[in-house]
Order: sequence, then structure tokens, then C-alpha cells
Amino acid sequence: MSVPLVLLAFLALGLLTAFVVIPVVRVYRGTRLVACPETKRPAAVELDSMRAAFTRFGNEPGRFRLTSCSRWPEKAGCGQECLAEVTRDPGACLVRTIVAGWYHGQSCVFCGKPMPEVTWTEHRPALLAPDGVTVSWKDVKPETLPDLFSTHRPVCWDCHVVQSLIRERPDTVTVRPDREHLWS
Ligand SMILES: [Zn+2]
Repeated sequence: MSVPLVLLAFLALGLLTAFVVIPVVRVYRGTRLVACPETKRPAAVELDSMRAAFTRFGNEPGRFRLTSCSRWPEKAGCGQECLAEVTRDPGACLVRTIVAGWYHGQSCVFCGKPMPEVTWTEHRPALLAPDGVTVSWKDVKPETLPDLFSTHRPVCWDCHVVQSLIRERPDTVTVRPDREHLWS
């Protein structure tokens, strides 16, 4: 094979990877929340995305398999019956879908501004615990999110940064006394 043909083959392989393989695999990546059939409680699972992506046009029963679960290794030998929930709608149980859905339409408990669209790389919003401490939703265990959504309140990124500073470096921040209504 001549050098130009080899280069063309590499180029074609690169384009195939960038525009076909990666997007298809990405659909099946990400942490998902399912109801564990044994406990009926949320469990955080991840799929074998390569396997799911490259059997997507087939009818293979074992197309979806888990590569991790928050109940493993204790329950690593389980039958993975939760995959039925994933199979019904692989997108709906993604943590990022659930998180975005919870923040959508809510306002920051501190500044009152509508929560911006959730981004996954920067300026992630946070949660305000009943004890007054804010925490980024990325810093809690995904399987605890459904419970936290019923006890915590939404906080925008900016206010989370300010609250973290107040907590960790109180000497650097001046707080105006207009936040007393928060929990009233
Ligand atoms: Zn805010």
C-alpha cells in the first residue's frame, strides 16, 4: 500500500471514529439511576457502552450489561434485572437528565434568579442542605440524589461559590444582612 493510501486509510479511520463511533458510544455512557429490584431503592449504574453501541441494530438479548453499580461489589453477582428499566428508556434514567429536570424551572434559593441550564463541564449548580451547607450535585453520591432533591434546595453556581467562601474563608467576604428569609 502506498504512503498516500495509508494516510487516506488513517484519515478515514479518524473520521469514522470522530463522527460515528464516539457519538454512538456516547449515547450509552454516563451514570444512570435505576430502582434496584431487590431494595426498591435508587442505585447508580453504568453500562458497557461499547457493547450497547455496537449491538444497537441487532436484537441481542444481552445488549445491555452493567460495568458498575453502587451496590457492587457486595451484590456483584446479581442478575442485573434493573436493566429492564434501562432498556425501556436509556436516556430517561441518566443522572444528567434527572438533575437537569430537577433544576429546570427552579430559582436559586439565595439570589432568586432562575436556575440556568445545567452544564456538565463548568459552573455546576449546587444544593443547599437543611443545615445551611451548600454542596455541588457532582460531589454527592448519585444514588443519594433522589432523596436530596426532597430535602435540599437549588443553589446557582455563583451563590455556591460565595457560600463556600463564607464557610471556608469568612475573613474575605462581607455578607449583607438580607438573607434571613431563606428558610422562612
Ligand atoms: Zn444564586
